[in-house]
Amino acid sequence: MRVGNSMAWHRDVELLAVGAGPANLALAIALEELAPAEISTNSLLIEQHEKISWQPGMLMPWAQAQVSFLKDLVTLRNPRSRFSFLNYLRSVDRLNEFINLGTFTPYRTEISDYLQWSANSLSKVRVEYGRECAAIGPARGPDGKTHTGWLTRLADGSTIRSRFLAIGVGRDAYVPPVFSALPPERLIHSTEYLTRIGGVPTKPPCNVVVIGGAQSAAEMFYSVQQDLPNCRSTMVMRSIGLNNYDTSKFTNELYYPTFTDEFFDAQPGARKQMLREMHQSNYAGLNPVLLDALYRQIYQERLAGKQRMQIVTMTDVTSARLDGNEVLLELTDRKTGKVGELRCDLVLLGTGFVPRMPGLIRRLGAELGLDEITVTRNYRLVTDGPSTAACYLQGVNESTHGIADSLLSVLAIRAAEITTDILVYRAEIDSQTGQEALIGDIPNGPVAEVFRVR
Ligand SMILES: Cc1cc2nc3c(=O)[nH]c(=O)nc-3n(C[C@H](O)[C@H](O)[C@H](O)COP(=O)(O)OP(=O)(O)OC[C@H]3O[C@@H](n4cnc5c(N)ncnc54)[C@H](O)[C@@H]3O)c2cc1C
Repeated sequence: MRVGNSMAWHRDVELLAVGAGPANLALAIALEELAPAEISTNSLLIEQHEKISWQPGMLMPWAQAQVSFLKDLVTLRNPRSRFSFLNYLRSVDRLNEFINLGTFTPYRTEISDYLQWSANSLSKVRVEYGRECAAIGPARGPDGKTHTGWLTRLADGSTIRSRFLAIGVGRDAYVPPVFSALPPERLIHSTEYLTRIGGVPTKPPCNVVVIGGAQSAAEMFYSVQQDLPNCRSTMVMRSIGLNNYDTSKFTNELYYPTFTDEFFDAQPGARKQMLREMHQSNYAGLNPVLLDALYRQIYQERLAGKQRMQIVTMTDVTSARLDGNEVLLELTDRKTGKVGELRCDLVLLGTGFVPRMPGLIRRLGAELGLDEITVTRNYRLVTDGPSTAACYLQGVNESTHGIADSLLSVLAIRAAEITTDILVYRAEIDSQTGQEALIGDIPNGPVAEVFRVR
């Protein structure tokens, strides 16, 4: 239904998925494979960008994924699916070469291409690009109380009403407050690195400071040598130095989708312990190949007497401001308490993501009057009051669902869990309200025995 001008129009869908990242793409595939057509063909996936790109700011051509290709959008749930990474490789005529490469970890660029290929291969769920979700609020029924759906407003002014909503918008970039006074052109967060570094004036000498001591910071530290030739770069971190990822096969089992139940059922203290002990396996470490390459590069520079890269450890940036044409960073040595200065032209932030819910979800929580944003085991947002609608949150439930929640490892199974929950919930509600709900055949779901519910 069009209301007013061509940009401000309204439509209804059964399910709206916001953000075409891996999480919602896996859900779209699960809907196609597990849900009845009346749901999948009435589902819409919207993406703010004009195409799908996996973590575009850090899509360096040499960077590899840190997860097996078998943890793609579908294989752990349905190894025979046409949406597998192997089928993608076959369709782009690279299967032999990939096998010959002898690796489990594809280049990030090919994962990204696989995601776009998967979206292009959907035949029931629609995908629309250039659709940025600006805000989401609850839609109420005629009684003014029952929560019957979601009203999503897009940046172009149009609105979409849906009974089901899946939010998979990733997490918000973390910019430490100490950098807030710097002009935006002097600061690049890793999420924007590749999209902005090409626009930085390269007049040497260019002094760059990279903040952080984990994978993203290290990748920018490595990459900036080529991207800004002849620059001098300093990496500043709080920790004692760069470290490899913890790659124990034993603790890697905590990334299994089957571990989610155990984590979810664990006591609060145990959950915290697991996240603390797993930190080094995901957030605080580096790929050993990159770590070695960096060490060798710094060693070779020392050997040649042309030191352009340096690492400053155990140091906090305690203030940051523009001084003339330079950025002036105040550094405080954690060992001695001594305060020093570091001048540079550009700051690169490898400071990761805000651990709390993204702004879009927090604003939705406020609209719903929720004190706390929590989800059920099946990722359904917990709301107050009577409701016939449901909203699912993907990739933001690490504190309740475990370390793998924001990663690819659990996507295929989680997508099936959400799809199953939608089908069961829909059937329950429709039976209460007297409507007829058709439940499809769910091969792997716990509700396989449910087909038609009144
Ligand atoms: C550099 C980097 C490397 C990584 N490597 C790995 C790895 O090797 N293995 C692994 O398992 N995990 C890795 N991760 C973790 C990563 O979070 C997951 O792989 C995965 O991208 C999470 O998928 P997602 O769909 O939840 O979120 P995202 O991938 O962040 O996708 C969110 C999507 O939503 C869109 N969006 C955001 N806001 C809106 C809006 N308002 N309206 C419309 N669309 C919107 C975005 O444009 C994006 O397309 C990496 C993360 C980073 C930053």
